[in-house]
Amino acid sequence: MTTLSAAEIRGRRQWPLPKLADPTAPLLEVRDLKTHFRLERGWVRAVDGVSFSLADGEALGLAGESGCGKTTTALSLVRLLPSNGRIRGGSVELFGIDLVPKSERAMLRYRWREISIVFQGAMNALNPVTRVADQIAEPIRQRLGQSDKTSKRRAAELLDLVGIPRKRLGAYPHELSGGMRQRAMIAMALACDPAIVIGDEPTTALDVMVQAQILLLLEQLRRDLGLSLILITHDLSVIAETCDRVLVMYAGRVAEEGPVDRVFREPRHPYTQKLLGAFPNIHADRRTLEVIPGQPPDLVDPPVGCRFAARCPFVMPVCTEVDPPEVRLEDGVRVACHLFPPSGDAA
Ligand code: SF4
Repeated sequence: MTTLSAAEIRGRRQWPLPKLADPTAPLLEVRDLKTHFRLERGWVRAVDGVSFSLADGEALGLAGESGCGKTTTALSLVRLLPSNGRIRGGSVELFGIDLVPKSERAMLRYRWREISIVFQGAMNALNPVTRVADQIAEPIRQRLGQSDKTSKRRAAELLDLVGIPRKRLGAYPHELSGGMRQRAMIAMALACDPAIVIGDEPTTALDVMVQAQILLLLEQLRRDLGLSLILITHDLSVIAETCDRVLVMYAGRVAEEGPVDRVFREPRHPYTQKLLGAFPNIHADRRTLEVIPGQPPDLVDPPVGCRFAARCPFVMPVCTEVDPPEVRLEDGVRVACHLFPPSGDAA
């Protein structure tokens, strides 16, 4: 069988991408998203007013410590929340169409076909008793209505594309290495030729060499397939290497967002500064590694004002009284911190 290039596979897309009324508009526009989880003691406001956009062909990194709402944001985009999770406000516009009010049946039109996700921990995400190639062929058959033969052929092409040798076509998940399984997950996410792929910690469980290979693969696929990418990770170096823009989340909200080079070179939000300071640098003195004292707030009953106030070295009286507004700075960085008041207000 002939190996197809990524561009050839892209050219075989079964349907045109939906057209945006305004061709310069972003593919994805998330506005004031609120996703909460019901617990016995109340609603956990895991994502609480998050807004961002994603342009065609762009790569956006979502960063922040565990529990900040990165994965919940991703699961909200594809509407794959656990049973106690609910989107309680905001909109998720894909090609100008709001997915939030869509029924589960209507979502089948969009999930995997227009926006797909690579889950963390491939061993848990793959079905252990089904051959990997068959798992990739299934959405092609079910979602695209392709024949068994065509689905299997495309699954083989996709496995080629992500670097899994043809001789492993009949393999079960446990017969593949961790890196191979993650490649298979990427192939599965690409099965229906989506415009947007979300990678939720796609390299977390892998050693550094395999991690580098997977990142290289994602970057190559993004370029060759014209994909837009949302990469969720707590590893800032992954975002630095792979993404155009970074969105830093803290306690369910956006702390800072902007072009990767600007945010990493000159972080404005005190949390982003601490997060970057806490990241190991092989060239730096180990004694300069920062820790962020304290814990994130309880999101069942979050504090009034800035949610980072209890851990912030620059906290001011206003911080514990008023939510910091999101302000767009001149260099395109968006920050939510009272140190950066809206223009016209006193600093
Ligand atoms: Fe710190 Fe206040 Fe800014 Fe929050 S709003 S990050 S507490 S300075």
